[in-house]
Amino acid sequence: MGLKTSELSFDERVKNAKKDKFMRASVAKAQDAQFEKRTRAREQLGHWNEWRELGEQIRQHAVKHLPDYLEEFSENVQKNGGHVYFAKTDADATAYIKQVAREKNVKKVVKSKSMVTTEIDLDKELLKIPGLSLMETDLAEFILQEDDWDEPTHIVFPTLHKNRDQVREVFQKIGYEGDNDPERMGRFARSYLRKYFMEADLGITGCNFAIADNGMINLVTNEGNADLTMALPKTQIVVMGMERIVPGLKEAEVLDNLLCRSAVGQKLTSYCTFSAGKLDDELDGPEDFHVVIIDNGRSNALNTVFEQILQCIRCGACLNVCPVYRQIGGQGYGSIYPGPMGEVLSPILDGYENFGELPYACSLCGACTETCPVKIPLHDLILEHRKVEMNKLHLDHSLNNVIFKTISVGTKTPILFKGALMGEHLAMKPFSNKKENSVENLYPEGKIDKVPKIAPKLIHGWVDVRDLAEPPKLRENFRHWYDRHEKERKRGEQND
Ligand code: SF4
Repeated sequence: MGLKTSELSFDERVKNAKKDKFMRASVAKAQDAQFEKRTRAREQLGHWNEWRELGEQIRQHAVKHLPDYLEEFSENVQKNGGHVYFAKTDADATAYIKQVAREKNVKKVVKSKSMVTTEIDLDKELLKIPGLSLMETDLAEFILQEDDWDEPTHIVFPTLHKNRDQVREVFQKIGYEGDNDPERMGRFARSYLRKYFMEADLGITGCNFAIADNGMINLVTNEGNADLTMALPKTQIVVMGMERIVPGLKEAEVLDNLLCRSAVGQKLTSYCTFSAGKLDDELDGPEDFHVVIIDNGRSNALNTVFEQILQCIRCGACLNVCPVYRQIGGQGYGSIYPGPMGEVLSPILDGYENFGELPYACSLCGACTETCPVKIPLHDLILEHRKVEMNKLHLDHSLNNVIFKTISVGTKTPILFKGALMGEHLAMKPFSNKKENSVENLYPEGKIDKVPKIAPKLIHGWVDVRDLAEPPKLRENFRHWYDRHEKERKRGEQND
């Protein structure tokens, strides 16, 4: 799949997403449920803002000293008997992993959930090796794989867009005969996957945090599949983005606290694992241990204002509060990294040609910045992308300058301002096709169909996905309403 998940244009993706009522309802429900869980988990911890500040400091420090910590981590992995490979591009990473698979004559691969392996399209690359089979063992990723490699829609909950009936249909293709009860389907998946773990000769995992001072990998999961992926196959490959480094265990502990609470509203996930290669006196664990550290465009952010996005710990909390994500879901973005973090990260990894629209899929409300557990100023970075694009495209700002100067004069001059209010009212009327005070106006769905077909494309672009409520009566704009209520209030006070 790779970073880019769709060949459709942004407009087409958004239109498709808007039609998908089930997906939109599921996203809204998940956002609301996660909000409650996350709030409870944060309150339970207490001093949330101090924790966030600590998280921000740790991530900022790690990113500032990335080369030093990566070197220290790499030395420690090798001291523990492992191998480290630095991959500049996705192609370098997949070539190295395929080479290990060939050298080990690997026939069966098990994988646990990892966004970075999806980013480099590892599954498809490995499956090009004749005779090799591969199984995603995270429940959601397993469902996507069995559903003909469907796209993920969320970085933490990849199958948010599927209901239990759809999951049952997927499982029926591989022999499930039961109903749509989640527990029964979960049991089926568990027994189906067990034989793959037992027979696998290569296990591939991602990495939540790589610990520089001991060369260990920290993973937080809820299903236990990552632990089996690490413990059973003789060869293990860990794939990590180069920014996933932390100085030591103390720092990892702080970040695990922030991550679990922000991602799934839990104090800690069911499994919080620190692992490395197998030591001589240990009974299980991989005999051959590799870590592939991937750049793949991340270094474009270094020493720029966008460096802050490398602090991201992939909790998904910014997606869970984003009003745009709520409407278009993950597939609307066309990147495996959707939502606010994806709007910032995707253009850095793969340029504005492919992801230039994403920074505009934002209302700049700032909810993402407010919730981010490591205090990444997401909406500021989204704005920075827009500035870069404007400058890069050498767009002419003179029209904007004239418009804003006119607005400035108009709002500073009372008579012009009042005239503009009346003018706005009259100008809006022909474009509104809903009744005043209609509930529909609160949930715009329709289309303003009064724009003549010959109107410029720019106008159609605006109104195709927006709706205007019919303006209130001319004499009842907000200022008049306020004046009337003030007068009534004062009259009431005098009468008392
Ligand atoms: S940007 Fe912040 S809130 Fe969003 S996924 Fe990353 S750490 Fe979580």
